[in-house]
Amino acid sequence: MGDRYDVLIVGAGHGGAQAAIALRQRKFEGSIAMIGEEPELPYERPPLSKDYFAGEKAFERILIRPAAFWEERGVTMRTGVRVVAVDPAAHTVSTAAGETIGYGHLIWAAGGHPRRLTCSGHDLGGVHSVRTRADVDRMMGELAATDTIVVIGGGYIGLEAAAVLAKTGKQVTVLEALDRVLARVAGEPLSRFYEAEHRAHGVDVRLGAMVECIEGKDGRVAGVRLAGGEVIAAQMVIVGIGIVPAVEPLLAAGAEGGNGVAVDEHGRTTLPDVFAIGDCAMHANAYAEGLPIRLESVQNANDLANTVARALTGEPEPHNSVPWFWSNQYDLRLQTVGLSMGHDSTVTRGDPASRSFSIVYLKQGHVVALDCVNATRDYVQGKALVVARTKAAPDQLADPDVPLKTLV
Ligand SMILES: Cc1cc2nc3c(=O)[nH]c(=O)nc-3n(C[C@H](O)[C@H](O)[C@H](O)COP(=O)(O)OP(=O)(O)OC[C@H]3O[C@@H](n4cnc5c(N)ncnc54)[C@H](O)[C@@H]3O)c2cc1C
Repeated sequence: MGDRYDVLIVGAGHGGAQAAIALRQRKFEGSIAMIGEEPELPYERPPLSKDYFAGEKAFERILIRPAAFWEERGVTMRTGVRVVAVDPAAHTVSTAAGETIGYGHLIWAAGGHPRRLTCSGHDLGGVHSVRTRADVDRMMGELAATDTIVVIGGGYIGLEAAAVLAKTGKQVTVLEALDRVLARVAGEPLSRFYEAEHRAHGVDVRLGAMVECIEGKDGRVAGVRLAGGEVIAAQMVIVGIGIVPAVEPLLAAGAEGGNGVAVDEHGRTTLPDVFAIGDCAMHANAYAEGLPIRLESVQNANDLANTVARALTGEPEPHNSVPWFWSNQYDLRLQTVGLSMGHDSTVTRGDPASRSFSIVYLKQGHVVALDCVNATRDYVQGKALVVARTKAAPDQLADPDVPLKTLV
């Protein structure tokens, strides 16, 4: 067998990096190694569809920590290495290159792989996903020779990419299969607001648009054919239709799961000494009424990493943090707190036409989440309402002159 580490982290992204940082902060003195499939040291993923994609931030500025940080803290970095199997009885993992590495505890922080289209033409040149630096560098390299772009998927990543491209004057079409953008994550008022914003910036937003196939010429994308026959010309296609959690080796080793790997309130999987965090971890979330869910956010990855670091350093504390998220599009900063799933009514606070407002999500009169657009004060103060699941009168929530903190 090759090397052995007291803690082996698989996945050198947000969760993996924070797990190592938190372990050292908590004075964990054992050996730590992080294995990552990508060639880079851990970097921030959100800028990939925002300022990094816009060319406004250099790669060095999105590194989570500089190389020296990991060296100084004795964290062994194994980048460009893919783990393909886990042997829970032997406490080892195997890499694609055939190496076997031992662990005392394993932290699985492998995130997810972009969901790919399955229709014909999905593998043509010029069809891209947005998950890694390499994906975005490839796209950026093609942009100078590209005028027409189709974005498939009206979720946050697709819309953020569309915003960056629209600002550079490209002709952008967004295709969304459902009847509104952001349908999976936000209520209708927010969806309609963002739809209107994109249209105002010249983006052709098509709702209820079913992609039939990608058409190509000489191995490169030329257009997207919709069910119904219309072909939208495209020199580039960006696919933003979600991720598939990267958990195959764990499930193959017998871990419980399906859409992700199941973990308890300390991040433990059902395999001995194996934890999982971040996008791939399916956990019972108090803000989803205890339902098992996966969250895809930096905050969730970091908080689960901290939870696992506590468990491994003898001070366990169940994971119970309030989910939060952000998205930047044009000059709009959206901040979300709580989970709006299952809400039965919404209150709009402030005037969307002013481009500073919030949507408050209620369930049986209790505040469960807020989407705050250019309204940081609502976001900060509204958090307490979500944590307390406050019952509040809709007319007070709707009145921007009533500070949310007075309603807790
Ligand atoms: C374009 C984009 C924009 C985003 N914007 C926001 C935002 O604005 N706000 C927000 O909160 N969140 C945002 N997110 C989501 C956020 O980045 C993720 O939730 C977060 O990165 C999850 O962290 P993670 O550690 O679970 O996974 P990741 O950060 O994805 O790290 C997982 C790493 O594991 C590696 N890996 C996978 N399988 C293996 C294997 N078998 N062996 C070795 N390595 C492996 C992967 O290559 C990857 O490097 C965005 C994501 C993307 C892609």
